[in-house]
Amino acid sequence: MVAMDGVQKWFGDLHVLKDIDLHVTPGEVVVVIGPSGSGKSTLCRAINRLEPIEKGTIAIDGEVLPAEGRKLAQLRADVGMVFQSFNLFAHKTVLENVMLGPVKVRKKSKAEAEKRAMELLTRVGVESQANKYPAQLSGGQQQRVAIARALAMDPKVMLFDEPTSALDPEMIKEVLDTMVALAKGGMTMIVVTHEMGFARTAADRVVFMADGQILEEETPQEFFDNPQTDRAKDFLAKIL
Ligand code: ADP
Ligand code: MG
Repeated sequence: MVAMDGVQKWFGDLHVLKDIDLHVTPGEVVVVIGPSGSGKSTLCRAINRLEPIEKGTIAIDGEVLPAEGRKLAQLRADVGMVFQSFNLFAHKTVLENVMLGPVKVRKKSKAEAEKRAMELLTRVGVESQANKYPAQLSGGQQQRVAIARALAMDPKVMLFDEPTSALDPEMIKEVLDTMVALAKGGMTMIVVTHEMGFARTAADRVVFMADGQILEEETPQEFFDNPQTDRAKDFLAKIL
C-alpha cells in the first residue's frame, strides 16, 4: 500500500532521511518510534509530499507519487493525515469540517457528504458535537474529529504523527481507543507515537528510527523484549 524505496531528504546540509526503504502492506499497522529529531515527522510528510524528497520513490497502492500536478493531488487525497495539533478549521462546525474534503475534492453531494460525516462522527463517538465549533470541544474530541475528517476522504492509508502528544493525559485513551478500533477494522496505518501500550496492542511491526535511518523493524514483542541495536536499547531505557 505504501512503498518507499531509497528515499533521501536534505534540509540544506542536514541529511534527514538517509536511504529509507519502507514497505507497508494493506491492512498493516506500522508504529514508528525513535528519538526526537530522528526524522519521523519528515518521513510522514514525505509520504504525501508535504515535503519534497531529493532521491528515491514513494508509491501509494502501486502508483508512484509525482513531484507535482493533478496526479499528485489525487494520490495525496488517498493518504489521510492526523497531526499532533488538531488543525481543524476554527470557523467551521465539526460537521462542516468533516464534510469539506468530500464535497470539494471528492465532488460528493452535500447530502451524501453529510450522511457519511455523521456516520464517521458516530464511529469516533462525537456525533453529539456535530454542530459545535472546534473551540467548544475538548482536545480529545477535536482529535477524534480530525480522525473522522481524514476518514471521510476514504483514504487508502492513514498517517498519524504523534496524535496524542498535545493531549491532557485523561484524553489520550479515548483517541488511542479510536485508533485501535480503526486498526482492528483493517485500515492501513503508519503511526508515529511514544505510546508504547498502543504499539504493543495494535502494531504489526515497529520501526525504530534514529538519525534519519531505520535501524530496526520487527514485531512489537521482538522489539520491546529484545532490541538489537544500542540506540534502541538506550531509547527504550529512557522511555520505559
Ligand atoms: P522527529 O519527528 O523524529 O522529531 P523531524 O522529522 O521533525 O524529526 O526532524 C528531523 C530533523 O530535521 C531535525 O533535525 C529537525 O530539526 C530538522 N527539520 C525538520 N523540519 C525542518 C525544516 N523545515 N527545515 C530545516 N530543518 C528541519
Ligand atoms: Mg516529529
